[in-house]
Amino acid sequence: MRDGEQTPGVSISPEQKFQIALKLDELGIDVIEAGFPAVSQGEVLAIKNIIKQGLRAEVCGLARAVKSDLDAAINSDLNYIHTFIATSDIHMKYKLKMTREQVLEKAIWAVEYSKKHGILVEFSAEDATRSDRSFLSQVFSAVALAGANRIDIPDTVGYATPEYIRQLVIDVVRPTGLPTSVHCHDDFGLAVANSLSGIVAGAECAHVTINGLGERAGNASLEEFVMGLQCLYGRKHNVKTELLYETSKFVANVMGVTVQPNKAIIGENAFGHESGIHTHGILNNPMTYEPISPELVGRKRWLQAGKHAGTHGINAMLETFGINPTEMELLEIVNRQKSLADMGKSISTTELLSIAGEVMHNSKFEEKFKLYDFHIVTGMNIIPTAVVRLNTEGKDLIASEIGVGPVDAALKAIQKIAGEMANIRIREYRLESITGGSDALAEVSVKVEDKNGGVVSSRKAGEDVVVASVQAMMEAVNKVMLQKVLHSKSQK
Ligand code: MN
Repeated sequence: MRDGEQTPGVSISPEQKFQIALKLDELGIDVIEAGFPAVSQGEVLAIKNIIKQGLRAEVCGLARAVKSDLDAAINSDLNYIHTFIATSDIHMKYKLKMTREQVLEKAIWAVEYSKKHGILVEFSAEDATRSDRSFLSQVFSAVALAGANRIDIPDTVGYATPEYIRQLVIDVVRPTGLPTSVHCHDDFGLAVANSLSGIVAGAECAHVTINGLGERAGNASLEEFVMGLQCLYGRKHNVKTELLYETSKFVANVMGVTVQPNKAIIGENAFGHESGIHTHGILNNPMTYEPISPELVGRKRWLQAGKHAGTHGINAMLETFGINPTEMELLEIVNRQKSLADMGKSISTTELLSIAGEVMHNSKFEEKFKLYDFHIVTGMNIIPTAVVRLNTEGKDLIASEIGVGPVDAALKAIQKIAGEMANIRIREYRLESITGGSDALAEVSVKVEDKNGGVVSSRKAGEDVVVASVQAMMEAVNKVMLQKVLHSKSQK
């Protein structure tokens, strides 16, 4: 939590920190580094609250090897401190302005001072991977003698290779015999590989963050590390992997930092399939194109229509809605959606169903609600108001609503009309900018829940955030309606 919160531009309240700590504990994390007590009063408050909760996980706090930091940590009720001082020449010369002898002395002092207060100490040699190797060994041996309980090897700027981390771990573990951690940053995209290498070499712990959050390129991603450890190295751990996705989503929402779609394990696309060849394989046996089953990490596989899709995939998607086209109809549906995709359009599920409806001459699959028009008044010192006109089965339905902003007002107006028929509520709304500038392409995703708790999601991209929001909402509402009509067997 401490390094994760050091993500540029991110700051969370004590209450949010508390909520994240509960989630991490539920996930089965062994140690939570709750914060850096010296940074603020809010931080101290948050740490105290987390400790009071009596979590299953051990709770530790960060402190530089200076008296004020250690005192702040001790006064936060912590009984486990992670203290550090830099040991690389570049840090000692330009940041600490201290000699090797002074650093060594300070490191020993910090450990002894904490031990005097009866505190468990993990000692980190900051920038260990760019430190002189013999000096590093000297520091680690000295703090071990001074009473440090655990040692951490931080790759502060992500400069290590898996081979080098392995050597450093052996350097520490052999002479000190202490439980050792590795703390890897992702500046070269090697944080997870380095962490795994550290474990294989004899480290017992890796410092990781949810979604790989952290300074610059971030830390090793907890999700990737845990799954690699389990599936590739057959190691045991205490993490409940089926909670990984949910926890990742929770933290992304609280921190306001979204996960890239192609991120391993937790990215939106990690278990999505479009290519016809892959989809065909997956449908025969998921092991063909999935190294692990999505359920293992709390996820579901999904198929995507598009230009790479094939008949098997499209058929499987239609089947989830109970639609069974003939071979000829299926071919026609596949071809029509491919030509739409060739025009650069992404094909949503309702669009696919509406193509199926046309091809199979079945109006049942058509969109229930068509957006006829809408307008919105917004500005300062007025109440944002939206008027929306939808058409369903030849009838016009009009509703107006006010909201905290234009999007809120418009979505509420749609919900007002559709809500009577579909009994839905908005569970999640998210707006992301895809490109920069005020004319950026924005992507809106909406999740709505029907009265049975079934959730459908939809996504729309556009230059006008209000229009994209309204379109995404319409799509979600139509999906709910279609599923009602078609008694779907599954929801996506
Ligand atoms: Mn770090």
